Amino acid sequence: MLKVLRPAAVAALISAFALGMPGPGSGGPGIQGATDAGYALCGRVFADPHAYWPSPAQAPARSPYAKGNAVCAAADFVSYDEMVKGMEYLQGLFPQFVQFYKLQRDFGSGSDCTSSTSNADLCSAGLPRQGVPSQRVKSDLYIVRLTDERVADTSKKFFVFPLSIHGIERAGAEAGVRVAEDLATWAYCEAVTTATLLPNGKTGCAAEGAVPHPLLETTPGQSVTAGDALRRSSIWLVFANPDGWRRGDPDNLVRFYQRYNGNGVDINRDWPSIGYTFRPYTPWSEPETKGFGHVLKQIRNRWDGGIDLHGQLIDSAFSFTLLGASERDYAKDQRILQTVKGAWADAERRLAWSLVIKPNGADPDDPRLYGVQWGTVWDTIDYTTTGALGDWIDSPLGLGADGIDNEMSMSHISNCGVGSCYLTDFEQLHVDGNKSLVYSMVNFSLLPEDTSFTVPGKVGYVRDDTVLSNSGTPVSRPAYLDLQPQQPIEATLTPDNSFRYEFLVEGPVCKSTKAQKGCTGSYNGGLEAKATPVNLAGISGFSTTSLVLERYRGVNAEPTPQEDQAACGSGDEAWTEVNRYFNQASTYVQAGQAVHANGPMPGWWRVCLSGGLATQIAATGGRVDLGISFTREKAWEDPGQLAYSVSNMKFFDSLGKNMQSGQLVALDPDKVLGGKAKLDALRSVVISDDPFPGFSEPLPTGEAQPGQVYEPPTAAAATVPGAGDDTGPPTSVADYEFDVDAAYNNQQLIVTLDCPDLAVNDWDLYVQRQSPSTGDWATAGKSTTATGDERVTLLTPPPGHYRARIVNYSGTAPPERLEIEFSNEYAGPPIEPSRRSAADLAKWGAELRRFVENGGNLVLSDGAVKNLAYMGLVDRKLVGSFTAYAGWIGFTRDGTSDTYSDPLAQNVNQPGAAEGPGHRHQTYEPVPLGFAIQDEGGGDFNASPIWAVDQTEWERIGGRTVGTTGSDQVTLGELKLGRGTIRIVGALLPMPTEQYYHPIGLANYALTYTGYQLLKNALE
Ligand SMILES: [Zn+2]
Repeated sequence: MLKVLRPAAVAALISAFALGMPGPGSGGPGIQGATDAGYALCGRVFADPHAYWPSPAQAPARSPYAKGNAVCAAADFVSYDEMVKGMEYLQGLFPQFVQFYKLQRDFGSGSDCTSSTSNADLCSAGLPRQGVPSQRVKSDLYIVRLTDERVADTSKKFFVFPLSIHGIERAGAEAGVRVAEDLATWAYCEAVTTATLLPNGKTGCAAEGAVPHPLLETTPGQSVTAGDALRRSSIWLVFANPDGWRRGDPDNLVRFYQRYNGNGVDINRDWPSIGYTFRPYTPWSEPETKGFGHVLKQIRNRWDGGIDLHGQLIDSAFSFTLLGASERDYAKDQRILQTVKGAWADAERRLAWSLVIKPNGADPDDPRLYGVQWGTVWDTIDYTTTGALGDWIDSPLGLGADGIDNEMSMSHISNCGVGSCYLTDFEQLHVDGNKSLVYSMVNFSLLPEDTSFTVPGKVGYVRDDTVLSNSGTPVSRPAYLDLQPQQPIEATLTPDNSFRYEFLVEGPVCKSTKAQKGCTGSYNGGLEAKATPVNLAGISGFSTTSLVLERYRGVNAEPTPQEDQAACGSGDEAWTEVNRYFNQASTYVQAGQAVHANGPMPGWWRVCLSGGLATQIAATGGRVDLGISFTREKAWEDPGQLAYSVSNMKFFDSLGKNMQSGQLVALDPDKVLGGKAKLDALRSVVISDDPFPGFSEPLPTGEAQPGQVYEPPTAAAATVPGAGDDTGPPTSVADYEFDVDAAYNNQQLIVTLDCPDLAVNDWDLYVQRQSPSTGDWATAGKSTTATGDERVTLLTPPPGHYRARIVNYSGTAPPERLEIEFSNEYAGPPIEPSRRSAADLAKWGAELRRFVENGGNLVLSDGAVKNLAYMGLVDRKLVGSFTAYAGWIGFTRDGTSDTYSDPLAQNVNQPGAAEGPGHRHQTYEPVPLGFAIQDEGGGDFNASPIWAVDQTEWERIGGRTVGTTGSDQVTLGELKLGRGTIRIVGALLPMPTEQYYHPIGLANYALTYTGYQLLKNALE
């Protein structure tokens, strides 16, 4: 899930390929071990880069965990065909432990992928080629299962490890094939030694070391044996992206692995997820997603664990382990922590041979890389996404497993300039590092873990009866069962037709308008148009344009479509845009594109190419093959709106199961008010988000502050591309300062940057707020897409001094316009009319205050922080809310030094845990709760609510500041009052939201591991 590369590298890449440069480092001996003779020679089917057998010891600074004979040491990536041959050979060698599945043969209709033209077949989208009937050369999809076939599945745990879903990130597949060989070999050697299996006469177990072999080779004492692991689990490896793999194979003429599938789609954005969904990703549109997803669900509905193995350029740690984002109960949180912490410790030992890896305890200034850091996706790689496979594995909608993503450095497009560059030492690190992850997950999942949520005393929580629900829209089924879909259309886009092709979508012709019987004509449930430009082995500059699908909406009196020469994708009155190729980045020089429509209305449609004629010709080589096909089924599985019924209160229903029986009790606010709920019997009372259920504050009224427009923005500097972030050199940034004035009703602050739309013109935008006490600037929101158009939206920004910071990332033409705009339009959740009086509110505040003064511990989270005002402790105006990219708290009081030693922060800064800038730890996930992270154009969006109290006031009344979110906004702290305490956590357990697109439904809660730890600390 690595963030797409910026286009700065695109021009260089395209020109490099135009010169026909092959990837350096290619052309090694390939895999030799997939025959009896080769296996005898190599000792392994897939010998490692650092293979050193039969020497008894490895050389210094090389991996002592490498397998295979030195004569066969790998010098190039495993090709797709070699993987297939190798897996088939392993299956023949170890039939008791290896099952290699071809999806179309074993789970599909059995038709041949090389001739298939149907997306319903379990095949890849196919590499783009001009002149072949389907314009795509499809590949078979494969998965492999490792388990002891002699033991029934009944009590086995099921694990899935997708490999290299981003084709350029080879680390996953390079390790995966060797994981398969390790497990099968070790289980076989154990079985032969214990005489439960006869020797095959080919496998040399002596070279493998200890038999039975520990799964964790670095710490045998903590490890199950490999044989035991396969008796107790079923381990599935998924070869996730054949098209992206094969574009880099030696037989592809020009080797350049591809992030996407052959349709130019990032299939790690194509998985459905509960919560906010970025609609342009059209989940389930791709054959790989549908194929692997449905087969995995068919194998088993609920899995136990999985890691999606990715690559990245390079970062402070060699490997980032990313915790999946979903509604995770406490037991799941604890299980995953046990796995990632075990993997973190294992990797330190396993990677210690490398000169580029430093020990986990080494100084941050040591230039070497840490082996592993782990954390939420945002805390590790500074963005998150929707539609990722790792989240689907983690989600109850998908496999319901303990889901993790992993990013491994030096496994990306720029290893050494191109994607087929094989660096032996790094590839050995990839193999060792991913084995560490896979084996740790299996090993630690097979060990018991402590999942009890242990806190002292009885805990009450105030029950809020609000439930968000939707009964859903019914799923439409194919209609007109007697009719066939329309015949496919083959066409070309060329300068002669201005890269526009009009066609007629047919429909049913019926005698009666009511009945669907006795009709003639066609019925189309879905439409797909695939485009293939002139390309060299699947590589082209096509991706600097986008394919657009439009429907003509003119009536008879208006011009016919052929006469209407409106530009493509301009959204004029005659043509409606239905779908556009989502162009994530042009960096990967993808040649294929596809657009889809469901239930296309009969009439004139067209497919056209965006960009001016000169751009179109340059991008396509002057000719684009177009294939338009129609299906009875939908072209992508638009779910409509699925039903849901959610409330953040379900968090407590779940947490109670991990506490002592009867320890957690619900408090009815009416009973608290009436004095019937005995608060004094409780040690702690938790109020989450709704401060006083049934009571609502009125909406603020009044005008928004006037804005400012800079056209063009002419502040000095930002003249030099910095290719960096907001901390880039002074020459690469330009600042525009402004105030947010408390006298206005500012519900929204929207800052927009417009730049000329060129293939390479990347500018970024930061909105920062200055600390009134220290003068330091903190980023409140940012938008850093790979283009020059950026927009940052912040809801209810706290008053203060701000700046819009323009950052020149790789600018080629200066910005045209910067606008700072305020709006008084309320954009928060719907507000119910209040059914409680001011007197009720006063009584509520007094009850809470009495509880604390008598020695109670009151925990206020999210919107419930407002109770500080209702209890008469601070002015209501000094308790505010604002929005951020995700729920987070910075563990700092002054913006610089950390507060990790404070009791309220204990165990947050765990060994190996990543933190974001400013000691940031994410406390809740935005996507499952429905909080948008992107706007319609794909820019970052800040919708996640944070509640805070003004730091000066908080400390004046005696509060201790442990965490802040932005300058001077306290989001974690403690206030002593009488004999008791009040603890606040300003971002933890907000009510989910229905305000953004959430077709699959919503989660109830989405605490991160930090969120759980903070609640536990607050209840200590
Ligand atoms: Zn990736």
